[in-house]
Amino acid sequence: MANIAFIGLGNMGGPMAINLAKAGHQVCVFDLSADAVAHVVAAGASTKASAIACVQGAQFVISMLPAGKHVDAVYLAENTGLINHIEAGCLVIDSSTIDAATSCKVAKALATKDINFVDAPVSGGVGGAVAGTLSFMVGGSTEEFAQAEPILMAMGKNIFHAGVHGAGQIAKVCNNMLLSVLMVGTSEALQLGLANGLDPKVLSNIMSKSSGSNWTLDGYNPCPGVMDNVPASNDYQGGFMVDLMAKDLGLAMETSLASQSSTPMGALARSLYAMHAASGNGSKDFSSIFKLFNKK
Ligand code: NAD
Repeated sequence: MANIAFIGLGNMGGPMAINLAKAGHQVCVFDLSADAVAHVVAAGASTKASAIACVQGAQFVISMLPAGKHVDAVYLAENTGLINHIEAGCLVIDSSTIDAATSCKVAKALATKDINFVDAPVSGGVGGAVAGTLSFMVGGSTEEFAQAEPILMAMGKNIFHAGVHGAGQIAKVCNNMLLSVLMVGTSEALQLGLANGLDPKVLSNIMSKSSGSNWTLDGYNPCPGVMDNVPASNDYQGGFMVDLMAKDLGLAMETSLASQSSTPMGALARSLYAMHAASGNGSKDFSSIFKLFNKK
């Protein structure tokens, strides 16, 4: 069993750290929120006064932070950066969804101290984090992937090696950009059917057995009442927040610009999600984009 430091215990990091402790690892946790720390410590982890104290002697450091600027600051900030306190040979696993450029910058800086690094963003949401069934998209060398895999297995079900440093982040933004486009397309198709007198359950059943079938239609239907146990049938509560989808689509557009790629559907989805968030829907599930196409 390993000695693990875990930084960032929010909606995702909290349950991920708890699953590592449940698997028998020695997990020392830190977050700026004392409540978040107390919750994870009550489930079997330990804590210390600072992130620096947690990483000393750790074989693995895992972070689950909001955005690139937090990851950059936690590892590389002058004086307080963990880079000066993590031991050589340790593997840093950053599971935050951030821009690939920051992942590569952190990986390069850590390598100067013989510290290994993988970017390992996740898919599966809070439900997957709690159940330990997340998918991890890992960027790093073959050796770094092999070092990360047994630890990630305690928090997830599908562990993919996407490629070199940053490749995990690229895979994540490609996936979420496609997911947003499918959700928008499914929503407008269902609204078109509704506006022309079709029962959305009947239409969903037809399309899910036809060539329009996709996960947002038959696994996460955005029309209230079509499926049980999805956010659409619970006033769009829970699930994956519009604000987070808007953030991921911003990352997708940065990635698209940097590589001069054509992503017109992603660009449109980003604008629609930004508009939807600005209309007060930021904390709702991303399937609530369905409401944008309501006929008044
Ligand atoms: P969150 O806001 O719930 O948690 C982030 C945590 O980081 C907070 O507890 C905050 O106090 C802590 N933190 C911030 N700065 C810190 C610092 N300097 N030191 C220590 N702790 C610090 O966010 P989340 O929903 O857990 O998401 C984390 C990451 O995972 C994000 O990048 C997000 O895009 C990604 N993600 C989220 C979901 C989801 O459904 N929530 C799904 C997939 C990926």
